[in-house]
Amino acid sequence: MGHLTEDCFACGGAALSVEEAAALILERVAPLPGEEMLPLARARGRVLAAALHAPHPLPPFANSAVDGYAIRHADLAAAGETRLCLAGRVAAGQVAGGALAPGMACRIFTGAPLPPGADTVMMQEDARLEGEALHLPPGLEWGANCRAAGEDVAQGALALPAGRLLDAAAIGLAAALGQPALAVRRRPRIGVFSTGDELAAPGTPLGPARTYDSNRFSLLALLGGLPVEAVDLGILPDRAAETRAALCEAAAAHDMLLTSGGVSTGEEDHVRAALEAAGSLVFWRLALKPGRPAALGVIGGTPVLGLPGNPVACFVTFLHLARPLALRLSGASAPPLPRFVAEAAFAHRKKPGRREYLRVRLVPGPGGMPLAHQHPGAGSASLASLAESDAFAELPEASTGVAPGERLVVLPFTGVF
Ligand code: AMP
Ligand code: MG
Repeated sequence: MGHLTEDCFACGGAALSVEEAAALILERVAPLPGEEMLPLARARGRVLAAALHAPHPLPPFANSAVDGYAIRHADLAAAGETRLCLAGRVAAGQVAGGALAPGMACRIFTGAPLPPGADTVMMQEDARLEGEALHLPPGLEWGANCRAAGEDVAQGALALPAGRLLDAAAIGLAAALGQPALAVRRRPRIGVFSTGDELAAPGTPLGPARTYDSNRFSLLALLGGLPVEAVDLGILPDRAAETRAALCEAAAAHDMLLTSGGVSTGEEDHVRAALEAAGSLVFWRLALKPGRPAALGVIGGTPVLGLPGNPVACFVTFLHLARPLALRLSGASAPPLPRFVAEAAFAHRKKPGRREYLRVRLVPGPGGMPLAHQHPGAGSASLASLAESDAFAELPEASTGVAPGERLVVLPFTGVF
């Protein structure tokens, strides 16, 4: 489909760092063309195709931020109480009857336009009304309790950039600017395969030596949080010719493929060989734990990402490879995964030279900084450990480990997964 050039790159040599792999993806993969108009009610989670500039100021007119009295600030005495004469009333949705004359005040409600001449609003709780006489205390600042026209977004200003992921706030802003629909980018179609003769689909009997296929459902769920169309392509057997044929056929019908398992160097691992035979490999080893065997290849221009079979490694490599690749194809300018500092409540030794992710649970710490507790079920096959954790602790390449009390970087995944 022509998204990725077919020249082999970075194969064979030392394992690629996570950063190098992510940079390669950005460099080599271009956003897909195509867009459609969607009504706001269906635009959540999609990628804005064209920048939205404010067609009018927001708010469109100067208005009151409170229920109270619109006044001319110059009428307020610097010290002591001011007495003004109440004349007029303007509620939300109404237009003021006329300009506010000096010495007068106008009853006003939240969202109602300021009468011409009024520049300040006194909250009703701060004023005292006796008949038509309004008594105001001193000390209110000029412009208090008013919202100026365009103070949120000036007319013509950039409200939402192209590539913005449309979340609730962005959709609300588009509506406030009068847009009933938005041009959004076409969603990449991403096919998901599992591989392995040992896998049984949930809902079918678990025969001897079988294990249920979990990665396909994890990956489909992970893709569900991205602006893509995820397609379930089932389970591939551990056979070279079938793997190659299935990948070729699917590559022609999708914008990207994701597989899990079968990507390391055993003779029952056929994904890497299929990529080399049917297209080419971009990389196949990462300096990452868990997640070392992960391959990016290209078949007929379609990127094919082979993720490791172990469920935790599959999650980690999804976050660092599949997510940026899918977002790149979708044209989204998504921010990187959020990283925070926490204090380690555990000790862990590690080999330098590769990045390591540990499953941790975050709890409030005594000094305000979160405390990270490592999950005891550390094996990279442990799905329960993922379900019971809420962040990955990131140990950088050069690190040789962490001791209790040391600071570390954590990537919370609650809400990301
Ligand atoms: P592989 O990389 O194919 O050797 O797989 C590594 C480990 O992950 C093996 O224990 C596999 O059974 C397991 N595995 C592979 N694919 C899946 C899957 N889709 N769901 C659950 N476990 C898997
Ligand atoms: Mg396998």
